[in-house]
Amino acid sequence: MQRYIDEVDPLCVERAAGARFFDVDGRSYLDANSSWWVSTLGHNHPRLVEALARQAGRLCHVSLAGVTHEGAAKLGEELVAIAPPGLVKVFYSDDGSTAVEVALKLALQMWQNEGRPQRRRFVALDGAFHGETIGAASLGGVEVFRRPFAGVLMECIHVPPPEGDAPEDAGYARAFEALEKLLAEGSDTIAAVVLEPLVQGAAGMRMYDAAYLRHARALCDRYDVLLVIDEVFTGYGRTGAMWASTRAGVAPDLMCLAKGFSGGMFPMAATLATGRVFDAFLGAPERAFYYGHSFCGNPLGAAIAREVLAIFREEEIVAKVQPKAARITKAFAAMREIPGVVRSRSLGMIGALDLSKGAAYLGELGWKVYVEARKRGAYLRPLGDVVYVAPPLTIPDDELETLLGIVEESVRAALG
Ligand SMILES: *Cc1c(COP(=O)(O)O)cnc(C)c1O
Repeated sequence: MQRYIDEVDPLCVERAAGARFFDVDGRSYLDANSSWWVSTLGHNHPRLVEALARQAGRLCHVSLAGVTHEGAAKLGEELVAIAPPGLVKVFYSDDGSTAVEVALKLALQMWQNEGRPQRRRFVALDGAFHGETIGAASLGGVEVFRRPFAGVLMECIHVPPPEGDAPEDAGYARAFEALEKLLAEGSDTIAAVVLEPLVQGAAGMRMYDAAYLRHARALCDRYDVLLVIDEVFTGYGRTGAMWASTRAGVAPDLMCLAKGFSGGMFPMAATLATGRVFDAFLGAPERAFYYGHSFCGNPLGAAIAREVLAIFREEEIVAKVQPKAARITKAFAAMREIPGVVRSRSLGMIGALDLSKGAAYLGELGWKVYVEARKRGAYLRPLGDVVYVAPPLTIPDDELETLLGIVEESVRAALG
């Protein structure tokens, strides 16, 4: 905070459209991270603005307590229709953190209702990020986010993520073994394994092969542990498929959605659950899930979220991402050659460079690149020593070229 007060000159943004935002001085910036991974359809998509205005004229808010409305009901149906198989129920909340919080509470209470209350520990990956509430932060494996609250967090066992370039590598075998050993010995006390599928975003865009997800699914089945997949970042086309889970051929027991859920227009989220999870809450009143946020199923958010799905269908967003993703892959592979770049990787609409070994979150190198990129008209917020792009999926080809050019020039300027 001290440094922020002393040094930071924040961009004061006045308006935004597509992949750009404009500051009060009339300068424009390409939004390299979709404003924290949220504005996946670009800023102020005209159809989303229109859907918001239309809904606002009719109904802005009503609780989902003995009440429903068309938007919440239809959205639930539409989500279930395209979700990975087995996910048949939808619980609405406000943002990624609460979507995860809901999943944790559902898992804990499901085991209680099933007569196994000792199953209350969670398993997550080193470097995991699942949100900011105390529950979601308990899963977190980024030390600086966790340390101040360590004394009050829920019990979570962290296991090493797979490391290496391919599932045959020793780093995968180690990760498989660690998870297997943990579940074999401790499944009686474990409620769920929680994973960011294919990409650990906040850890520095660490990517891993789908084989690990399939392995985790098989182990969770064998030991009857729930698998929670947090698609808050990866969902809605980011990895080049609608869901990273389906890209990997895996269906979770609970799936968390937010960020792209409402296309950068509104804080709203959902947790999807299987029939098995849902059924555990039937019966006597004390078995019910007493949990509801005031904005649960908000009509404005529901209208926008439905329009997001309509845009994905009608504008074939996922198909149109493929050539753009190929462009990112090619550009980031080439940037591996820049002196000082330690590693490069890409998946779907994500490209990342490590500027140091270990790529520390409190590293300074990414911020040097940030300064250079800002001069050149791009907002390229790093994750410490990791520089990455995760632009709107709809970024026009010429703007994507411009952005990739700015990344390369800025990295060269900062490291040169
Ligand atoms: C951002 C993020 C969250 C938290 O979402 P918020 O909307 O910021 O609360 C949870 N999980 C993952 C994987 C995320 O990337």
